[in-house]
Amino acid sequence: MSDLTILHLYPKEMNLYGDHGNILALKRRAEWRGYQVKVIEHHLGDTIPKHVDIVFGGGGQDSGQSKIEQDLRNNAAHIKELIDQGTPGLVVCGLYQLFGEYFQTNDQQKIQGIGALRCHTIAGPTRLIGNIVISSPEFGEIVGYENHSGLTQLAKDSRPFGTVVQGAGNNGTDLTEGILYKNFIGTYLHGPILPKNPRVADFLILKALQRKDPSIKRLKALNDNVELHAHSVAANRPR
Ligand code: GLN
Repeated sequence: MSDLTILHLYPKEMNLYGDHGNILALKRRAEWRGYQVKVIEHHLGDTIPKHVDIVFGGGGQDSGQSKIEQDLRNNAAHIKELIDQGTPGLVVCGLYQLFGEYFQTNDQQKIQGIGALRCHTIAGPTRLIGNIVISSPEFGEIVGYENHSGLTQLAKDSRPFGTVVQGAGNNGTDLTEGILYKNFIGTYLHGPILPKNPRVADFLILKALQRKDPSIKRLKALNDNVELHAHSVAANRPR
């Protein structure tokens, strides 16, 4: 039996700007520490298994989001339960928006989300595009790339994933980026985010392992020279 089961949501419809790389980073970083990892791809019409350790979903165009809308809603109760119970996960851009209440597109189409994260998104007049740097108390500096029309507003009691240092983030005005709810992260950062922000990857892996074995206090350190070099190159790019 695998030590960790990763659920990869809609790999065909939701995979922009290297988002699949996040799965590779999670898998390898766990395997390098001796854990066995199984990745389950969830495609339209599939049933999400009861037991999942980490949830991941990438970004997509408005048309991709419309395609998955119904299937995601069919699985909403199970996904919400996983998140509320503390299952760690990461959803990027298009799926971040649909894990919130809704995304209203530029042509006034309202794509319903599942309300697992307390935020909603309405498309703005210009796309927010470019390299982005944010900072967070848990993870320090986080780097990525954003490209979205959606402007996301967090509910009053929601906590952002980070504060914008360079770029737009949730909406280009309030300096918030993403959301952190229990062990679950929603973010606009593509790139992909995890290979060059290994602390975020390890947060997800550690939380997943600790839910199975609370005696695990930390992960074995890895040589992150390459990852940290990639991080610093990204951090020093102009917007
Ligand atoms: N279609 C959404 C938007 O434009 C999400 C884009 C994305 O996932 N990069 O806001």
